Amino acid sequence: MIYAAYHQLNQSEKSAYQQSFGNLKTAFHLISSQVEAATSKLYLLNDSDSLKDFDSTAKRILEHSPAYLDIITVDHQTGQYRSVLLNPTLAEQNTTMVWSPLNKVDPRFTVSSVYEKQPEQWVFAVKYQQNNLNEIWIEFDLKYTTQSLRGLRTLSDGYVFVVDSSSGRLVFHPDPQRIGTPSVSYHAGISEMITNGLRFGRHEYYYKGQFKLSVFDSDNPYQWVFISGTDRSDVLSSSYQFSLTAIVIASLLLLAVAFNYLTYQLNQSLADLNNKHDLPDFKHHLRAILDRFCHHKGIQLCFYDSDYGYFSTIDYHGNSHIVLKDKDLANRFSPSSLRYTAKRYADPLAKKLKIDGRHYTIPLFDKGSLIAVIYMTATFPTYRSILRMIRDYSEVALSNLLLHKKLRSKDVMTHLDNKLTIREKIDSNLDKEGIYLAILDIDHFKRINDVHGHQCGDHVILHTAELMKKCFPKPGAMSLARYGGEEFCVLFYANDENDAYEQCELFRQVVEQTELSYEEIEVRYTVSIGITSAQDSQHTTIGRADKALYQAKGLGRNQVVLNTFRA
Ligand code: GH3
Ligand code: MG
Ligand code: MG
Repeated sequence: MIYAAYHQLNQSEKSAYQQSFGNLKTAFHLISSQVEAATSKLYLLNDSDSLKDFDSTAKRILEHSPAYLDIITVDHQTGQYRSVLLNPTLAEQNTTMVWSPLNKVDPRFTVSSVYEKQPEQWVFAVKYQQNNLNEIWIEFDLKYTTQSLRGLRTLSDGYVFVVDSSSGRLVFHPDPQRIGTPSVSYHAGISEMITNGLRFGRHEYYYKGQFKLSVFDSDNPYQWVFISGTDRSDVLSSSYQFSLTAIVIASLLLLAVAFNYLTYQLNQSLADLNNKHDLPDFKHHLRAILDRFCHHKGIQLCFYDSDYGYFSTIDYHGNSHIVLKDKDLANRFSPSSLRYTAKRYADPLAKKLKIDGRHYTIPLFDKGSLIAVIYMTATFPTYRSILRMIRDYSEVALSNLLLHKKLRSKDVMTHLDNKLTIREKIDSNLDKEGIYLAILDIDHFKRINDVHGHQCGDHVILHTAELMKKCFPKPGAMSLARYGGEEFCVLFYANDENDAYEQCELFRQVVEQTELSYEEIEVRYTVSIGITSAQDSQHTTIGRADKALYQAKGLGRNQVVLNTFRA
């Protein structure tokens, strides 16, 4: 028994470290996507033709982006600082501020260390140096930016925080009151490890009567240290040592050895759930666990999308099917519940799924919002402690997986795939019969921004994404992506080159004929499209489609050009 408990503890510790490392990566992606979003706004500001134009664009940006606190300009010649909101700019002139260049994006962008703009108001800035050496800064409100990191949990109590290594102050923390204060954990050993040249690693220390396990990573362009950790007691309690002991003592009377072994195995399988990187894999593994450790007659796993209010299932290939749209039902589930009910009391979702017989309903939550429901049909009740254990592990693993998935694969604004995802999909569909890549670019988009404002431009981008979804439905379309700014990609199936051309030509016509209204402005616009077949390599496929697009632009825009591939 002691041996089994010891192994469970080891396993929990291992999974705590795995989750922590995963969370650091996600935290870094989250921050980077916010910083990158700011760089596109800075480009936009840099394009302003006059001071009036600059101020109105800046005010619009501030109005629509709660993460930004202020926009500052610095005149290179006079050394004057000016806030668009006419705030005092004393903190900005602080000479001890450290700037780190974003070489990977464009070395003209730099990110500052944290500073106190007003008492208790901590910020950092992303700065763009214009060709005339004047500067534009966008200031981030740390209290707001930090919110997105709150979702990253390690076991039940662990969290992620970020420390500015130049000042030792907290840049991000789940408790907003802590932002800007010196970090105790950082000074309890991690700072020395970094000074000694270690860029990432593990650290254990003692704080407020608790042993803490943590991992850190300082390998980023911001001179920030991302730290994720949890209490050792959390590891202990999530190792289920105590419930294990109770179960084992009872089971000693009957199946001592077998049961003990099974619980140990269960713990190990559950820790593996954290390593699943996509939903079909997660579902498959969860099903295997339930098959192995619970007596049942059938399992159904439904994911819940709280944005749209629908429940969906996912098949082996990753295709998802909407089963039911019912927000009221979602609100009726409560966290930590584990109901065993007769068929006649089945909820509408169970009925839709044709759950036949007595069953367990196990909702999974992420910070109070429903993310999935497991239905397990079972003629007789099964061990609740085992089900609870499966539920708790699945909840954390699935919450993290969904967050990682969203960040990695989707474009934040349009919810289409991002560049990374479509590249992967081109790779996995290369040289198959009838797969084509189209790159679409909105014509004279800059003019739309200039004439109607960039909010209207955003609206045009969103509208284009919606039209793409309509004109290129799944499963014919394998991926619809936003490739950047006002450029999109479609990876789709067609019978032959003519069919590929016709599908894109139809889309072009639909765009041309659409009159889009935005705040009483009527906007008409067109797109140019380049197509090629997905062959040879991802890189050359994109290159050929791009070349075709370039030809379409050269021929006067608003047209489709097909680049025929000759191997
Ligand atoms: P062309 O017909 O040759 O494609 O001309 P264009 O004006 O569409 O192309 P260009 O590349 O010159 O301009 C694209 C502009 O798109 C520049 C940039 O400011 C703007 N842009 C990029 N991302 C966004 C965004 O997310 N929202 C808005 N509103 N504008 C964006
Ligand atoms: Mg364009
Ligand atoms: Mg473009």
